[in-house]
Amino acid sequence: MRVSGPTPVPEVRTGSCQCGDVTYAVTGPADDPHLCSCSHCTRISGAPTVEWVGFRAQDLRWTGPGGEPTWFATWPTLRRGFCPRCGTHLISVADGSLMVMVTAFSLDDRTGLEPVGHSFRAEAVPWMTVTLAPDPAHR
Ligand SMILES: [Zn+2]
Ligand SMILES: [Zn+2]
Repeated sequence: MRVSGPTPVPEVRTGSCQCGDVTYAVTGPADDPHLCSCSHCTRISGAPTVEWVGFRAQDLRWTGPGGEPTWFATWPTLRRGFCPRCGTHLISVADGSLMVMVTAFSLDDRTGLEPVGHSFRAEAVPWMTVTLAPDPAHR
């Protein structure tokens, strides 16, 4: 049986870096989950795109033993936070913004965070638009 209506989303979302030193909890509504294929996101991640999701800055708490991530300015008005121990790319904050963007795949539960858009789509590799091929085991 299919239950209709919006997918229930967790009240508190948690996330972490790969090594677990930097963890966070965030509450409140998720804003604008989207992919970004700009030259910074692709270079920094070593991947064709990064999925970002916004939350209010006041709703995010750093909860792990490592405290806050280490910040690097990657643009004159933008800084990104990384775990200083394992290097995981966790967050991006624009100067003066009330919002923060976390990397969706640092979250433990991505329910309801399917991307609604793709920034710098024109710069994305062409095969990003190709539907994933079926799993050969299930053909
Ligand atoms: Zn780490
Ligand atoms: Zn980007």
